[in-house]
Amino acid sequence: MTTRTERLHLEGFGAAPAEARAEVAVLTPSERLKRAAIVFGAFIAVALIALPIPLVHFVVVPTGLLLAVVLGLLRLRDGEIFRGVEGRCPFCGTEQQFALFGRYRLPRTVDCAHCHRRLTLEGDQP
Ligand SMILES: [Zn+2]
Repeated sequence: MTTRTERLHLEGFGAAPAEARAEVAVLTPSERLKRAAIVFGAFIAVALIALPIPLVHFVVVPTGLLLAVVLGLLRLRDGEIFRGVEGRCPFCGTEQQFALFGRYRLPRTVDCAHCHRRLTLEGDQP
């Protein structure tokens, strides 16, 4: 797995954009398969646990199998994922780290931990 740092900016309605940096992990095909297998296995396990429970198994088993396939395939597509984002809030100026995970795509919305305003994480190109 290789990581790279992206220079982005945080925007808020009515405020000047502020700089932000994102750590992005670039996954190899085997790492993508491993991430997908973890989700797939977790939902298969839920389905297996619900199997002997009367009535519950009519809902939980098909739902677990469906989620295992769908979420597994979605994770398999994730070639680049967020490892962390840090930046300064354009409203209150607080330097902070944002809890942002999953597929690397822009724009993404985050909330300032200090003033709780909605911010948009954007790339350099408008
Ligand atoms: Zn703020």
